[in-house]
Amino acid sequence: MASAPTITPPKIENKKLFIAGKWQDSVSGKTFETINPATGDCICQVAEGDLADVDLAVSAARKALESKPWARLSGSARGRLIYKLADLIEANAKELAALESIDNGKPIRDSLHVDIPGTAATFRYFAGWADKIHGKVIPVNGPFFAHTRHEPIGVVGQIIPWNFPAMMLSWKWAPALAAGCTIVLKPAEQTPLSALRLAELAQEAGFPDGVINVVPGFGPTAGAAIAAHMDIDKVAFTGSTEIGKQIMKTAAETNLKRVTLELGGKSPNIVFADADVETAAKFAYHALFFNMGQCCTAGSRLLVEDSVYDQVLETISSLAGKQVIGDPFDEKTTQGPQVSQQQCDTIMGYIDAGKSEGADCVTGGNRVDRAGYFVEPTIFAGVKDDMKIAKEEIFGPVLSVIRFKDVAEAIERANNTMYGLAAAVWTRDINKANKVSAALKAGTVWVNCYNVFDAAAPFGGFKMSGVGREMGEYALANYTEVKSVITALGR
Ligand code: NAP
Ligand code: MG
Repeated sequence: MASAPTITPPKIENKKLFIAGKWQDSVSGKTFETINPATGDCICQVAEGDLADVDLAVSAARKALESKPWARLSGSARGRLIYKLADLIEANAKELAALESIDNGKPIRDSLHVDIPGTAATFRYFAGWADKIHGKVIPVNGPFFAHTRHEPIGVVGQIIPWNFPAMMLSWKWAPALAAGCTIVLKPAEQTPLSALRLAELAQEAGFPDGVINVVPGFGPTAGAAIAAHMDIDKVAFTGSTEIGKQIMKTAAETNLKRVTLELGGKSPNIVFADADVETAAKFAYHALFFNMGQCCTAGSRLLVEDSVYDQVLETISSLAGKQVIGDPFDEKTTQGPQVSQQQCDTIMGYIDAGKSEGADCVTGGNRVDRAGYFVEPTIFAGVKDDMKIAKEEIFGPVLSVIRFKDVAEAIERANNTMYGLAAAVWTRDINKANKVSAALKAGTVWVNCYNVFDAAAPFGGFKMSGVGREMGEYALANYTEVKSVITALGR
């Protein structure tokens, strides 16, 4: 019997663009549908931003950057506004969680207990930095006094994906606001709703008009307009490697705006026989299947040492059987739909490829027979490194299990990928843990844990998983320009 939901799917009015502190129709008058992936039904119409709207948003952001009150606000005053926004996010957590679940399809237990608290925590962390961003005094030769200033980089364009809509927004907004930048954000076309509500909460918190602008729309139009805009100083993007490359190219061909990219992954999760194998297997299951496999850090290549391979496979297969697939608003649900028909089709294509390339589909492998974009939790055993499912980011509930014999082989095969976002190692041998984590080419390595994130810990990719770092002090470096000021001392 389904439990009585305490949060119900909200009724939502049609939405506009948020520019210069006002709700506006798009210049073209066009709108698009945002879809509930659990049913395939339209939730509401959203104004569709394009080049002309991005232009208006950039003008508003430029004006806010260079004029009072924002330009004169002290770091501590900026920090207070960011703290206020974090408080408002917590006060409105249920409503925000409902928006995430209806728009993205994620189970309400995750949006309420993971996404929204994580969003508030990120704002709180960066609020604390706002009055601690400062340069250095540098000893130089001669009668000169040299110091550095860490100035806001300026107007920033931010383009985010649909897998953690509110949380990805916080990773982008919080360091930018702490540093004193102004923002033009394009949420993903699949999930614009939480960003628009967060813009409203930011206004309620007291951010001046134009500091934050939200322009929903499509990637090739609104997104491309941000990447190409001559008056945007930096673009921060999270999404696929393919689009990340395009954004970097566009930035290079226009005004050399600064670029940070958080891209995909094919993260290896290595279980050695001397690990706490049952715990490792349970975490390995969630490392991939959390958020319907739609995580950039998904532990999609599970490398297991020969002697414990069967045990791990048995544990993860039994966990797949316990997954509660269904209505995201039912608190018992642990797996909702994929975000869209398109993602669902892509995932089914990968499952077909796994089967035809000879991997052993030990569980799942089909769509779930109900409305919406549901896919069974799918585990492939006996996966070889050259199979499509071992090489490409699937972004769905499909786990590849790979057998290995020794440490050297595990390291070599773990690194045999163009990606380098995250990795994990499970062992009770501290020397092995140290050796392997040093050898893995990834921006984050988890030892005897997985998917542990903290606003204080830098996050980003090696190789084709990204450029630059978000989170922690490193994020601030990506939202500031360093200026050397050299002053002659008494002539
Ligand atoms: P995507 O195309 O890279 O989309 C990410 C964001 O970029 C969205 O806001 C998108 O807008 C925008 N965008 C698309 N084309 C653009 C362009 N030419 N210029 C500027 N912005 C553009 O990713 P996707 O199509 O949603 O998903 C495809 C695959 O990307 C997934 O299967 C997965 O492998 C990977 N992915 C990775 C992450 C991650 O966290 N690293 C997140 C999502 C997806 P629209 O919303 O209008 O498309
Ligand atoms: Mg949607």
